[in-house]
Amino acid sequence: MNTTPDAGVGAGGTPIAEEALRAARVLHPDEGFMPRPTRRRVITVANQKGGVGKTTSTVNLAAGLALYGVRTLVVDLDPQGNASTALDVDHRSGTPSVYEMLLGEASVVDAAQTSGQSDNLLCVPATIDLAGSEIELVSMASRESRLKEALTSEALDQLDIDYVFVDCPPSLGLLTVNALVAAHEVLIPIQCEYYALEGLGQLLSNIELVQRHLNQELTVSTILLTMYDGRTKLADQVTQEVRRHFGDVVLKTIIPRSVKVSEAPGYGQTVLAYDPGSRGAMSYVDAAREVAERGVKERR
Ligand code: ADP
Ligand code: MG
Repeated sequence: MNTTPDAGVGAGGTPIAEEALRAARVLHPDEGFMPRPTRRRVITVANQKGGVGKTTSTVNLAAGLALYGVRTLVVDLDPQGNASTALDVDHRSGTPSVYEMLLGEASVVDAAQTSGQSDNLLCVPATIDLAGSEIELVSMASRESRLKEALTSEALDQLDIDYVFVDCPPSLGLLTVNALVAAHEVLIPIQCEYYALEGLGQLLSNIELVQRHLNQELTVSTILLTMYDGRTKLADQVTQEVRRHFGDVVLKTIIPRSVKVSEAPGYGQTVLAYDPGSRGAMSYVDAAREVAERGVKERR
C-alpha cells in the first residue's frame, strides 16, 4: 500500500489509524517482507548538487529493503564517507574500501562489511584514500568502468545481493561516471526547494552520454522527492513540476523534512534504527517498498 505522505492521510481509515499502521510496519518488519527482485538491480544514486539527500536516501532505502528481508549492498563512492558513517562501518584509512576495488586490489567480497543494523545490509566503505582517486583514475586503463569490473556477478552472487545502491559524490567527475557505467538504473533525489531543478539538465545530458557511449542499458528509473516541507507553497509547486516532467518515474512517496532524519547519522544509524516510528523512517520504508514492487514488475 502506498500512502500520500504529502497529506499524511491515506484514502481509507482515519489519519491516526493510518499512522499506526505505518508505524507497525516499521516496528514489525517480519510481518511484511518485501519482494526480492526478478533479477539483481544496481541503482546509482546521483545528483551533482550537494545536500539534496543522496546519502540519506541511499542508506535509508537500503535499510528499508534490508529490514524487510531483501539483501542490499551500499557502495559508498563519496570520499566524504557519509554513507559509511550512517551505516556504522569501519572506514579508517587503510580499511579495504571502494578505493582498493577501483584499483583492482580488493574484491567486493573483501571490502564489503555487514552493518550492525541488519544482517541483510552490507556496505563497501569509502575512506579518505578515495579523495585523490578522481585524478588517479585519469591515467588508468578503462578508467570509466573500473567499478563495473569490480562488481562482478560472481562476487555479488557469493554475497547473495539483490540490490546494490551506489552513493555518488556531488560532482559529475570520474567517480560518478564509474557509478553510471556500473549501474542498470539511476535514482535521482530531488529536494523540494527553490532551484531544485537547476542543474538537472546537465545531469540528464551526462546520463545520456553514458547511455550512448558506455552503458546502453542505463535508465533513469526512479526520482525521489526529498525534504518536503508541507508548510511551504513552494514545496508543492516543485512536486507538481517534477511529476509533470517525469511522470511515473517519480515515486508516490515523498520524504518529509524531519529532524530525526538529520539526527540519525550523528549516532551512526539510519533513521529506521534511530527512530523507527518517526515519519521520516516510515516514509523511507514506504519508498523502499515502492522500489521493491517495481523490481518485480520490471522484466527486461
Ligand atoms: P547529499 O548526499 O546529496 O549531499 P545528504 O543526504 O547528505 O545529501 O543530505 C544533506 C543534509 O540534509 C544532511 O545533513 C542530512 O542529514 C539532511 N537531510 C537529508 N534528508 C533530510 C530530511 N528528509 N529531513 C531533514 N534533513 C534531511
Ligand atoms: Mg552524500
